[in-house]
Amino acid sequence: MKIGIIGAGPAGLSAAYELASHGQQVTVFEQDPNSVGGISRTVEYHGYRFDIGGHRFFSKSQEVEDFWTTILGDDFLTRGRISRIFYDDKFYDYPLKPLNAFRNMGAWNTSLCLLDYAKVKTSPPKDIKSFEDWVVYHFGRRLYEMFFKTYTEKVWGTPCDQISADWAAQRIKGLNLISAIKHAFFPQDSSSDKSAVVKTLIDKFRYPKLGPGMLWEQVAAKITSMGGTLLMDRKVVELKHFNGRIISIDSLTSNGQSRTTYQFDHVISTMPVRSLVRAFKPNLPQSIAKAAESLKYRDFVTVALVIDSSDLFPDNWIYIHDPKVKVGRIQNFGNWSPFMVPTNKTSCLGSEYFCFEGDGLWSSSDEALLKLAEQELNTLGLIRGHSVIDGKVVRVPKAYPVYDDDYQSNVNSIVDYLRYAAQNLQLIGRNGMHRYNNQDHAMMTGFLAARNILGSNYDLWAVNGDAEYLEEVTEERQVPKVVAKT
Ligand SMILES: Cc1cc2nc3c(=O)[nH]c(=O)nc-3n(C[C@H](O)[C@H](O)[C@H](O)COP(=O)(O)OP(=O)(O)OC[C@H]3O[C@@H](n4cnc5c(N)ncnc54)[C@H](O)[C@@H]3O)c2cc1C
Repeated sequence: MKIGIIGAGPAGLSAAYELASHGQQVTVFEQDPNSVGGISRTVEYHGYRFDIGGHRFFSKSQEVEDFWTTILGDDFLTRGRISRIFYDDKFYDYPLKPLNAFRNMGAWNTSLCLLDYAKVKTSPPKDIKSFEDWVVYHFGRRLYEMFFKTYTEKVWGTPCDQISADWAAQRIKGLNLISAIKHAFFPQDSSSDKSAVVKTLIDKFRYPKLGPGMLWEQVAAKITSMGGTLLMDRKVVELKHFNGRIISIDSLTSNGQSRTTYQFDHVISTMPVRSLVRAFKPNLPQSIAKAAESLKYRDFVTVALVIDSSDLFPDNWIYIHDPKVKVGRIQNFGNWSPFMVPTNKTSCLGSEYFCFEGDGLWSSSDEALLKLAEQELNTLGLIRGHSVIDGKVVRVPKAYPVYDDDYQSNVNSIVDYLRYAAQNLQLIGRNGMHRYNNQDHAMMTGFLAARNILGSNYDLWAVNGDAEYLEEVTEERQVPKVVAKT
C-alpha cells in the first residue's frame, strides 16, 4: 500500500515508523527545508542547541516510554527538575515548597490565602464556566491572582474570565490546593507509580542528551533506512478528492519552483486543520470552510541569548508571572542537558514570548526582540553583570491550538464531514486534531493511525491527554468538551 503522511513532527514520524517497520511504502512531506521534529525540533545555532520551549519527556504510556528508550539508548538522560515562579520580585519554588512559599508570602498573606480557600470551599460558586472560576474554586482567589492569572493571560493573550473552564480542567487535572500541599510534604517518586503522578508536578524527567530534535532525527533516519521516503521542503498545498476519497496530494517547494503530484491509497495528516480544509480541491462546503476558518491559534517567539557565564541560575526553566515584563518563561538550556552548550564558560537562555502572528511582538525585527529579551533578563536580575555575546530569534506559528467556546463544535463538524468526504484520510497530532497535547499523545495517535491502515479499527479521538487509549466511551473520548461562557 502507498501511504502519504503530511508533516515530519512526532505524530507523522511515529506513524511513518510504524508503517515502514511493517514494510509499507510511506512518503512523508515536510514543509521545513532542514529540520524534522516539528514543534519538538531542536534548533542548532553556532554550536548551541535549544528547543521550541523546553521539552520534558514523561509519559504514562509504557509503549511511548519504551519507544524513546529503544531509539535513544544511553543518550536518554534522567534530569532533575528545578523550576521556579517569579512574582512580585520573589522566586517561588515550583512545585510549591511550604517553607519557601511561607517565607516569600509572610504569615499574614499565607493566612489570607488559606481563609480565601476555606471561603470558596464553604460556599462554592453555582457555575464554573471560566478558567478563573475553576482555579478560584480549586485554590482560592488570592492564590489564583498570584500564581495563575498573569501567566495564563500571557500565554493565551485573553483575560482568564474569557477562557473556558474546560482548559483548566484538562491541563491542571488532578491538582488543587490540597494535592499541591500534599505533594510539597510527600513528593511522589515519578518513576514508581505513574498513574498517581500529577503531570504538572513531576520532579524528574528524561531528556535526550542533544534535545528532542536528536530523537526525531534518529527516527527519520530509521524510516529512510527501512525504505520510507522523507521529502523535505515540501509543503502540501492541495488534496484532490473524489467519491469520498483523497486521490492525490500536491506539494510545493518554498521557492515556489517545484510542484509535484502523488497518489496514495491512504493519507495521514498532521497539518493544521484550518490549512487542511483550505487545501481541499474541490472546495469543501461553505459551512465546513467557515468552521475551519473559525479555529484559532496562539503563536510563539523564542529568543535564545548566549551569555558569558555558565553559572546564572540553577533552574531548567522559570515561569515569569510578573506583569512588568512581557516574557512568559525563561529556559536555561545547559541545565536541561550540559551537552546543549558547546563550552563550559557560557549559558544559553531562551526567553519565550507568547503572541499572535502579525501582532507587535511577532512583527518586531530580530534586532528589537534580541534587545527586548536582554533588557527583560536584566530587569529580572537574571544576567546582571554579565554580557550577551550572541543571540537568535525563532518564530513558531500555530504553536498552540486555542480552545475557545466554539472550537469543539467546529472540530466536530469538520471531522464528521471528513469521515465521509475523505474516508482514506486520518487526522493525528496536535494541530492535526486541534488538540493541545504533548509528544506522547501525538505519537500514540500516529501509532494507532498506522495500525488502522494495517487492519485495526482504533478511534483516534479515544486517545486521552495521557496517551492512553480509552476503550470505554467517557467524556475524554470526545473532542474535549467546552462549557460555553455566557
Ligand atoms: C512551548 C511548547 C512547549 C512544549 N513542551 C512540551 C514538553 O515539555 N513535552 C512534550 O512532550 N511536549 C511538549 N510540547 C508539545 C509538543 O511540541 C507537541 O505535542 C508535538 O510537537 C506535536 O507533534 P505533531 O507531530 O502533532 O505536530 P508538530 O510538532 O506541529 O509537527 C507538525 C509538522 O508538520 C509540518 N507541516 C505542517 N503543515 C504542513 C504542510 N502543509 N505540508 C508539509 N508539512 C507540514 C510542520 O512543519 C511540522 O514539522 C510543547 C509545545 C510547545 C509549543
